[in-house]
Amino acid sequence: MRTRLPLLAVSLLLLGCGRIERPPAEESKMKQRLAKYTEVKLETDLSLLTEKERQMIPLLKRAAEVMDELFWIQAYGDKLTLLAKVQDPDARRFVQINYGPWDRLEGDAPFIDGVGPKPPGANFYPADMTKDEFEAAVAASKDGGRAMKSLYTVVRRDADGALAAEPYHQAYGMLLKVAAAALRDAAKLAEDAGLRRYLNLRADALLTDNYQPSDLAWMDMKTNTLDIVIGPIETYEDKLFGYKAAYEAYVLVKDKEWSRRLEKYAAMLPALQRGLPVPDAYKKESPGADSDLNAYDAIYYAGDCNAGSKTIAINLPNDEEVQLKKGTRRLQLKNSMRAKFDKILMPVAGVVIAEDQRPHVKFDAFFANTMFHEVAHGLGVKKTIAGKGTVREALKDRFSSLEEAKADILGLYMVTRLIEQGELPGAVLMDNYATFLAGIFRSIRFGASSAHGKANLLEFNFFEKNGAFTRDPQTGAHRVELDKMKAAVNDLSARIIQLQGDGDYAGVGRLFDDMGLMGAQLQSDLNRLARASIPVDIVLDQGAPTK
Ligand code: ZN
Repeated sequence: MRTRLPLLAVSLLLLGCGRIERPPAEESKMKQRLAKYTEVKLETDLSLLTEKERQMIPLLKRAAEVMDELFWIQAYGDKLTLLAKVQDPDARRFVQINYGPWDRLEGDAPFIDGVGPKPPGANFYPADMTKDEFEAAVAASKDGGRAMKSLYTVVRRDADGALAAEPYHQAYGMLLKVAAAALRDAAKLAEDAGLRRYLNLRADALLTDNYQPSDLAWMDMKTNTLDIVIGPIETYEDKLFGYKAAYEAYVLVKDKEWSRRLEKYAAMLPALQRGLPVPDAYKKESPGADSDLNAYDAIYYAGDCNAGSKTIAINLPNDEEVQLKKGTRRLQLKNSMRAKFDKILMPVAGVVIAEDQRPHVKFDAFFANTMFHEVAHGLGVKKTIAGKGTVREALKDRFSSLEEAKADILGLYMVTRLIEQGELPGAVLMDNYATFLAGIFRSIRFGASSAHGKANLLEFNFFEKNGAFTRDPQTGAHRVELDKMKAAVNDLSARIIQLQGDGDYAGVGRLFDDMGLMGAQLQSDLNRLARASIPVDIVLDQGAPTK
């Protein structure tokens, strides 16, 4: 799971750039689209690394670049054919940012002439396959649909036109060999034994689709400075069923100083779980005591996590069995967060938050909210208490949005509790709430097509309905009502955990029908952000390819 923080589905960005040559309307529209992103170079202090670690970085980047190629195939298909058809340099750049001809911040609207809507199943399934056809093939399959539904298979038509599942390691074998070889070369240079073992096991995993041993090794690894998250990981790109994992990679450098500050919160997980505001039946699982929380600087993003909006925090692994055995690792990507806070959140707050509450919008609160969002993914229920299997299985395509809302709201619940218990010295609850409220505006700009966008709409509407904030009709400024927000956080936490525990697919649908839609007032406030030319997200200047 991960957190992204971009913004909006507003198409009316009226920007001043590109006027000199009076470009044709279409070209100028492309410039407006590009202006939703502000370019950032991610940096870290490489002098803290050893000589060998510095030598490993190009190898890790090379493996990551392969994930980029693979994600292109999964999201769209043949990248080169598409790029060959696009002459305008702005359009080409925008295609590359989106990994295809659909605008990820505009609900996947096509932005290249002649391109139709994006297939919900991306390129994981045949474009002409229906849900019913898939379900029928699952019902007829000998393994109960295991292969068809696997995270790590692509569904294709065989010579007779029937649906068939092909494992990733076969479908993408050539490219995966390149990535695995780069990881093994990096492993040879690794001075940290845990990292060396992980890199070798991850290379094996890429070639077999058996990720569990490397996930376990990754959780066992504690003393490394360099890290790489790599492989088919999240399922957001499969909007048809949410079954298929998309390739991505992050190359990371641990920030040991900040990590020490975070260490103590991991130890509080079991107590936080016991304190959840739900009946006992919904909090019986124990989150892994071995979980950890670290801050990193990201130095390279590739594939899924680099498409459109950029991730700033990750909670992995997703494998529920590994989670129950080892807990999860939460990675806070500090340099990316700082860039988004400075370039997006502060300007957003300047438009939508009441003037006297704006000083409460702070980086430390932003960092804490994001951190506890990730912690909260590890809490609650993983398996339904109603005998419907895992929550993910029971809630299918509705799982991701609800899970993101859970993490946001339970994260806020935990911040509230810890401040009350005096565990966050110096923290001021109003900072966290005001920063969160400003953050909702930013996150809704992700577009309603994303899990985070839907989650934020739910939170916004629930808060509004419960008086957690008020809006000044004259200035359009929003003001946190502290006590009512506290109560709303409790109520929504309980509601979400119970829906998850019950595996109540229909109930989740009703909740989002009720409270997951964009109101006219909110839309007009988002339009104000667009008119103020506040970028939606960052795009990364990552330098030249390694080869
Ligand atoms: Zn999340």
